[in-house]
Amino acid sequence: MDCLFCKIINGEIPSTKVYEDEFVYAFNDIEPQAPVHVVIVPKEHICCANKINAENSFLVGKIFEAAAKIAEDMGFADKGYRVVNNCGEDGGQTVLHLHFHLLAGRNLGWPPG
Ligand code: 5GP
Ligand code: ZN
Repeated sequence: MDCLFCKIINGEIPSTKVYEDEFVYAFNDIEPQAPVHVVIVPKEHICCANKINAENSFLVGKIFEAAAKIAEDMGFADKGYRVVNNCGEDGGQTVLHLHFHLLAGRNLGWPPG
């Protein structure tokens, strides 16, 4: 399958790994939007949030578990952070493999975009 994030998970395309377990892979974003910008993806290819269902929704929990671990390990858990998913064209999704952005290290504006 010609999917950028599947290739990153498989190691075909290099990435800076931040965290990995059986279900999840996390790596530094190539174009960081904050001092910390980690992309967290399920190892299973799911195109987008529209395809989350009863069988695969546990992976979203695994992703948030990973985010909490990364926040603790990198030392910004107390200060705070944002975990965000972009879905579809209006959501700003550019890579069609479900992923969550973990952003930290500055005061993040709201509303985004
Ligand atoms: P989206 O716009 O789909 O929500 O997020 C895709 C993210 O993947 C973007 O923040 C973009 O900078 C990042 N990205 C795109 N290509 C690469 C790549 O080859 N390596 C890494 N590490 N990040 C990438
Ligand atoms: Zn994929």
